[in-house]
Amino acid sequence: MRQFFHRGDKFQPVSVDDERLNQPQLDGLWQKCPNCDETLYSREVEHNLNVCPKCDYHFRLGARERITLLLDEGSFDEWDTDVRTADPLEFIDPSGSYATKVEKTRSKTGESESLITGIGTIEGRPIAVAVADFGFMGASMGSVFGEKLTRAVEQSAQTGVPLLSVNASGGARMHEGLFSLMQMAKTVAAFARLGEARVPHISLLVDPCYGGVTASYATVADIIMAEPGALIGFAGPRVIEQITKQKLPDGFQTAEFFLDHGMIDLIVDRATLRRRLADLLDHYARARQVDRGESIPWIPNANGSGRELNGNGAERQNGVAQ
Ligand SMILES: [Zn+2]
Repeated sequence: MRQFFHRGDKFQPVSVDDERLNQPQLDGLWQKCPNCDETLYSREVEHNLNVCPKCDYHFRLGARERITLLLDEGSFDEWDTDVRTADPLEFIDPSGSYATKVEKTRSKTGESESLITGIGTIEGRPIAVAVADFGFMGASMGSVFGEKLTRAVEQSAQTGVPLLSVNASGGARMHEGLFSLMQMAKTVAAFARLGEARVPHISLLVDPCYGGVTASYATVADIIMAEPGALIGFAGPRVIEQITKQKLPDGFQTAEFFLDHGMIDLIVDRATLRRRLADLLDHYARARQVDRGESIPWIPNANGSGRELNGNGAERQNGVAQ
């Protein structure tokens, strides 16, 4: 146990980025796929939803790119763009102050924080989204991240619009200390209230998803999906190997490993994601209709016989399986 508190060089701190050394570069005319090593024409990769056409490797995306790919064109209405990061601890590390770091990241990325929230549609179906941006301080969960997410969840609970969270993160924002850790409890409590309101939360885990985000709201959703090959965990594999001194199994902490061990519900590739989400939204809308007798504007025959939903071949009349 003493080893855990030993300050020697036994346990080297490892950042999430170190876990996958060959990070893909999406700038330039050509790029190398970090998975299959193929040299790819950047425009071809871009046209293929930033997925390698040779091996299906899913390149990382910024939050804005994800929103563009996910939602119907022009449907996104952003929420809470004016929530600003406070610096409650007046935190300073050897590389400078937290306030300066946030300011620099803001002007570099053009984003105000590491989480973008709002509402839009997927094939005409309304959906609230909360998308983490790994390019903004590793999408670390600070008090603004937590507050924006909580507000989005509260909106969903009030309006009954399902919420999709897209989760990539390095974990808690250490510059905010305990205020950052508090966001784990705050967001999980908000999602618990969303559950009580019987409004679904769909979580999509994308590469890389670590730390306090994985350990809180991202893995307590009604449906947990992941992109192929996404690295998911609390601490990174190398940190765990250093501490446990054990060799970890192949593919440890990949989405595929998580699926095999029952930690997530499904893996969805980028090309079919919108379709899968639209199907899920239809399932939930029909369940809600049965519950509350509400009509579903984008399913014209919702009040008559409809598509089979329960897999047993039964037709539905007025929401009741025959
Ligand atoms: Zn490839």
